[in-house]
Amino acid sequence: MVELQPVAGDRRQVAIGNLIIGGTRPAVIAGPCAVEPGYVEQAEALAGTGVDALRACVFKPRTRPDSFQGMGREALPLLEEARRRTGLPILTEVLCPQEAELLADLADGYQVGARNMQNFRLLEALGEMGRPVVLKRGFGATVEEWVAASEYLRGRGNDQVVLCERGIRTFEPRTRSTLDVSAVLVARDLTDLPVIVDPSHAAGQRRWVPALARAALAVGADGLLIEAHPTPTLSWSDADQTIGLDALARLVLEAQRGLGTTA
Ligand code: PEP
Ligand code: MN
Repeated sequence: MVELQPVAGDRRQVAIGNLIIGGTRPAVIAGPCAVEPGYVEQAEALAGTGVDALRACVFKPRTRPDSFQGMGREALPLLEEARRRTGLPILTEVLCPQEAELLADLADGYQVGARNMQNFRLLEALGEMGRPVVLKRGFGATVEEWVAASEYLRGRGNDQVVLCERGIRTFEPRTRSTLDVSAVLVARDLTDLPVIVDPSHAAGQRRWVPALARAALAVGADGLLIEAHPTPTLSWSDADQTIGLDALARLVLEAQRGLGTTA
């Protein structure tokens, strides 16, 4: 069990395995959009950049039913092996309570995606399970609605909740979503929970991800959730917005040492 340190004011810290979010420096959680057959080797390469935890999604909510839906159960041994080899905490998305039960021994934290932000029965079930949850903002949700959703988890006794801004739907079609950096500030006014940012699903294109990640760090986000892959163009899911190891390593340094520490 990691020791949670008091932070300035009454901000809360959340432990995902041995990673503390809301501590003294922003955390970086990264990995491919979805776990693929080569995941263990990918996880080792990602670990080499200094990331704090791994994205390891085996159940994916895809817009179209004919898109790759994640490897499902088949990927469970890959998660176990990636955690064993890298020693990094594993964050994995769940769409229903049954998936959360199935992953309980392998995941250090659960991700609830934008499309499930107001899936209240799921939130209540995860509240009862008591494991850390990263709750993404729905792309049509106000900050108040997002914070209210977090209260479904907390109402069942689970305060281990991290909010994640991932962009909202606006009239602008050139980005996949519009990253609402101000949401970090607004959410902080409404809740004591840590707030992280996913620049990948907002950008939709890898070349914009580093700058949006830096914008998140500049407004004081408690961490970044980034889609990264050793060969981004080969990602099975969300390849266009997935960054490579060099770009990731630069962001890790900036999260650890402060903005402007890389060329
Ligand atoms: C994801 O993280 O891969 C994802 C599906 O994100 P979102 O729920 O924010 O769309
Ligand atoms: Mn994705």
